[in-house]
Amino acid sequence: DDIRPKIEQHIREVKDFPKKGINFRDIMPLFTNPQLVNELCVVIADHVRHTVGHVDSVAGLEARGFLFGPQVAIQLGVPFVPIRKKGKLPGATIEAAYIKEYGEDRVEIQQGSIKTGDTVFLIDDLLATGGTLRAASDLVVKAGGKVGEAFVIIELAPLNGRAKLPDIKLTSLISYD
Ligand code: 5GP
Repeated sequence: DDIRPKIEQHIREVKDFPKKGINFRDIMPLFTNPQLVNELCVVIADHVRHTVGHVDSVAGLEARGFLFGPQVAIQLGVPFVPIRKKGKLPGATIEAAYIKEYGEDRVEIQQGSIKTGDTVFLIDDLLATGGTLRAASDLVVKAGGKVGEAFVIIELAPLNGRAKLPDIKLTSLISYD
C-alpha cells in the first residue's frame, strides 16, 4: 500500500518560519510514530534495491538527513557517511562550497569515507532550492564516487531545486506545489 498519505498526515506546515514569508514543512511529527518511521526507512531501502541496485554507502545531510540516513544504511547493510557543515567533522576532510541566499556555505565529509568508484545514495529530508544537494553531489564526485540517486522525503516544486541537479537521478516521495 502507499505510504505517502500516512507520511503527509505527519507533516506540519509552519507559516513564517524561520522568517516571515517562508512556509516551513516540519517533519518532526513523523517521529511521534516510530512504526511509521521504520516503515518509511524500509520503503526507501526497498526503493534503493529495486531502482538503484547496489550502493556502497548511504550519505545523509546534516541535520535532518541524519534522522533517516543511518536507518536506511542499516536496512541495506552498508556504511552511513555523514555530510556536515564545515568545521564539525574531526580529522582530514574534503569540502564543497555552495551559494546560499546570503553568501556561501560549505559542506564536508571525512577523508576516506567515500572511495574511488563508490556508488553513493544521498538522502535528505527536503529539497528546496537544491543548493544543499548540489554541494553534496559535488562532494561525492570530488571524493571519486558517483551519486546512484538523491532522495528526499519532500520536494518544494516551485523552488525548482531539480534544475540545479540535471546530472543526478532525483526522487522525492512527496512533492508540494
Ligand atoms: P536547499 O539547499 O535545497 O535550498 O534547502 C534544503 C535544506 O534546507 C535541507 O537540508 C533541509 O533540511 C532544509 N530545509 C529548507 N527548507 C525546509 C523546510 O521547509 N522544512 C524542512 N524540514 N527542511 C528545510
